[in-house]
Amino acid sequence: MMNSNNRPNPSIGCSVDQCQYHCGTQDFCSLEKIQVGTHEKNPTMDQCTDCQSFRVKQ
Ligand code: SF4
Repeated sequence: MMNSNNRPNPSIGCSVDQCQYHCGTQDFCSLEKIQVGTHEKNPTMDQCTDCQSFRVKQ
């Protein structure tokens, strides 16, 4: 997916600096849309959810 990390999406705040879509100095995602999911059968807290659009910075 094409990506411009200097164009933060103000609707998606994110502090995961290790992701290639993170905006660096600004705590926002640069994608237009992300996918959130869960790795649990019955999620009960925020720790149960995941950003499935995460890709590690190369
Ligand atoms: S893809 Fe997910 S983890 Fe990566 S910067 Fe965007 S919101 Fe954060």
